[in-house]
Formats: sequence, structure tokens, C-alpha cells
Amino acid sequence: MDNWLIVPSGKTSLPGFNPLLSSVIQQPVVIVTGGSRGIGAATAKLFADNGYAVCINYKSDGAAAETLLSDLKSREAPCIAIKADVSAEEGTSKLFEAVDAEFGRLDVLVNNVGILKTQSKLVDMNADRINALLINNVTSHFLCSREAVKRMSTQSGGAGGTIVNVSPGAARTGSPNEYIDYAATKGAIDTLTRGLAMEVAAEGIRVNGVRPGLIYTDMHADGGEPDRIERLKSKVPLNRGGQPEEVAQAIFWLASDKSSFSTGSILDVSGGL
Ligand code: NAP
Repeated sequence: MDNWLIVPSGKTSLPGFNPLLSSVIQQPVVIVTGGSRGIGAATAKLFADNGYAVCINYKSDGAAAETLLSDLKSREAPCIAIKADVSAEEGTSKLFEAVDAEFGRLDVLVNNVGILKTQSKLVDMNADRINALLINNVTSHFLCSREAVKRMSTQSGGAGGTIVNVSPGAARTGSPNEYIDYAATKGAIDTLTRGLAMEVAAEGIRVNGVRPGLIYTDMHADGGEPDRIERLKSKVPLNRGGQPEEVAQAIFWLASDKSSFSTGSILDVSGGL
């Protein structure tokens, strides 16, 4: 348990909820992987504002997770944060088992985990780098989707649900001269979105994708260019970068009943790029 941070939720204070009588929370529950910062954090706040119990997941930055948990609690959302590497079986199991134990239900999974490496051309990439991106960005989405489907599928006694995958516009452009390995991992996520949507459509589960463009988060610093959006924003038809909150709105819509006839769809949130 020492690699977990679980902060008690406020669920015992919910009207009518008695943990001694029921282990299932009354509110809908969302898991946001990679939810402690950036797009994931904005998404977690939006779900909290709309009455969801929220589980955020992160890999290493406990301070960011604690800051977000304080914010979510101030919105009166039952919330937990789970430190777990969801690119591995063990971390994925711990994440979903924690939600089972704390909330007893799962309605929405937002597969938001993603990393990139320093900008580089293909000729300078090696297997260690490429495999790290594949495992972190692709395996994680597959493992978490599998666990969500097990819990949501009406064929397994679940109540259905929605999965939203986050993949960048780079999946379309390929990000030449910067990180085509990262872009390719995200192309794989678009394929997952389409294939899984068809596979589980009859099981009460909708699977959709959101494809952000240039969004103001820490990710660009991880790629070695913190001001990357300033360099590129003139190429965006709307002539600016986007905010994490603008992406969160698209994620929330695709997760909600308001998009009830959409599955296998991928929504670009990229200012027209
Ligand atoms: P970010 O600010 O860099 O945050 C990444 C989050 O993912 C953090 O919470 C991080 O936790 C977590 N994480 C990374 N690997 C993990 C793992 N194996 N297990 C658990 N958590 C993990 O990212 P962002 O910019 O908000 O991006 C979110 C998603 O949107 C990514 O999938 C990204 O590819 C996509 N996207 C971003 C942009 C953009 O311009 N920012 C554009 C298009 C698409 P720690 O902090 O603890 O490591």
C-alpha cells in the first residue's frame, strides 16, 4: 500500500448514504487516469461540479494530486487519488480495486495518461525510448479499458458506461521532426477507440475519443520546449492555443448521456488545426 495515496472521500456525508448498509455510492463514478495535472485535472473538476464521485490517478507527483484533491473536496465531491502506474498490470489492478472498495461502482473511464520524450528525429530514437512510449501511452489505455469493460458490461451484470480516450491531433499529423513515436502511440489509441466501440456496443458501453490540439499544460516542457505553443499557435486557424478546460468540456459531453448516439467517434478539439 505504500505506493498509494488514498484520501478518504466525503461519501459518508451524502444524504441517505449509510456505509454500513451499502457499499455502493449513490453518485455516478468517474476514473480519470493521469488526472492530477493538465487536461486530466480540468476534467476531474468538471465531473466533480456535475455531481460525480471522482477518482484521479497519477504516477509520481503526489503534491499535484494532493492539491487537486483539496480543490475537489471544496467542490463537495467524494474523491480519491491513487498513485499507480497504469501501464503495468499491478498498478491497473490497484487502481480499479481501490475504486471498487471505495465507491462500489464505475460509470465513466477517461483514459488520459500520456507522456512524450524530448523532441527528436527518428534517426536518433532507440528501442528503449520507443518501447517506453508504447507501454506508457498504449498498454495503459488497453489495461484500463479492459478493467472498465469487466465492470460496466451488461453481459457481466454491469449497468453499462462510457469510456473516453484522449489522443492528440499528432495522431493525424505524425509530428515530424518532433516526436513521431509519441504521435504513433496516439494513432494506436484512435484505433482502440474505434475497435473497442464496436466490440462492446451491445454491452451497454460507448467508447469515444477526444483529440486535443495545442493545449497549455506542462507536457510541452517535458518535450524540451516549454514555449512550443507560442512558436506554433499562428498555424492554428483560431490563432491560439487551447486551455485544458476546453478539452474537459468535450470529454464530459462524450461521457454523458447527451452524446447517447455517439460511439466510435473522435472529436477534434484543436482550434481547427
Ligand atoms: P500532463 O500535464 O503532462 O499530465 C500527465 C498526467 O499523466 C499526470 O497526471 C501524470 O502523473 C500522469 N501519468 C503519466 N504516465 C502515467 C502512468 N503510467 N500512470 C499513471 N499516471 C501517469 O499531460 P496533459 O498535457 O494534460 O495531457 C493529457 C493527455 O492529453 C495525454 O494523453 C496527452 O497525450 C494528451 N494531449 C495533450 C496535448 C497538449 O497539448 N498538452 C495535446 C493533445 C493531447 P505524474 O504527474 O504523477 O507523473
